[in-house]
Amino acid sequence: MPSPEIRRRIAHRLDELLARCRAEPAGSVAHLYDPARGYYPPEEAGEEREEFAISVVTVDGERYDAGDAEVAFPLQSLSKVFAYGLALADHGRDAVLTRVGVEPSGDAFNSLRFDERHMRPYNPMVNAGALVTSELIDGRDDAERLERAIALQRDFAGREDLDVDRGTLDAERAAADRNRGTAYLMRSAGMLHGDVDATVERYLAQCSVHVTAGDLAVMGATLADGCRNPRTGTQVMPRRRARDVLSVMLTCGMYDYAGHWAFDVGLPAKSGVSGGILMVVPGKVGIGVLSRGLDAYGNSVRGIAVCRELSDRLGLHVFASEAEDAVLAGGEPAEG
Ligand code: GLN
Repeated sequence: MPSPEIRRRIAHRLDELLARCRAEPAGSVAHLYDPARGYYPPEEAGEEREEFAISVVTVDGERYDAGDAEVAFPLQSLSKVFAYGLALADHGRDAVLTRVGVEPSGDAFNSLRFDERHMRPYNPMVNAGALVTSELIDGRDDAERLERAIALQRDFAGREDLDVDRGTLDAERAAADRNRGTAYLMRSAGMLHGDVDATVERYLAQCSVHVTAGDLAVMGATLADGCRNPRTGTQVMPRRRARDVLSVMLTCGMYDYAGHWAFDVGLPAKSGVSGGILMVVPGKVGIGVLSRGLDAYGNSVRGIAVCRELSDRLGLHVFASEAEDAVLAGGEPAEG
């Protein structure tokens, strides 16, 4: 347990970080996303543009929040992390690998390009791959398969009341032609086998679960601690799965910015069009950030700024040349 003084210093540092990253470079926001409106330009945004939260949860279960850490937003692409985890838990690594690869695609998240050498989507962090992992979730019927997907999200967050937001799901359904098209195309090529409409529905429902930045941080801390939720003490998936999921997050979690992210920030992370980023410092902490302004790739502009600064200042990049044993309370900027 950190002393009250350490806790105070960490909280203060997070507030400072939030204040520093609040200013976005002019023109850096390409658009925002809302399930009902789709993508819309920054000049049409209202108060949602100001919402900004950073949460950090350690593997000891300590939680630190700055900003709007209780604002709820849909998981969107962040749900892909948990669908992949469940597919791995249900079928094992080798079987899942035959259906969805682990290669960064270099394409946008909703691309219709596939790994044609192996006739599978490039990775589970883009839409095509997440449709496969949604199909791979076991259950007696569609209701049970969805229930298991949401139950795993609840276990990761340690929140029994986490659920699909009906309004978000309706809006996602109304705008799902590209996902439906992707799924049908994939079935025609043998990459999906089952009931395409049910698979798309399950995918959209997982995307429509509402969380807060605080929840994301707990989910991240659970991954950081080998799938053990540090707040509830529950082992939510086999420990070994954390390594698989985190590897794919490191190489594929930020869409077609993933290479740059690995180069710059060097930590496993996943983003969603709702403006959330979940980042993991393996063995140490989970971080959740919310800010809705997105860059051209669909990643949160301020979210990237926060993660980059945390990684730099605390020397967290997995390939940092010297292990700077910095803690959140005392880290100094690494040399440029
Ligand atoms: N529901 C969105 C979609 O399928 C999620 C995508 C995302 O967050 N990048 O297009």
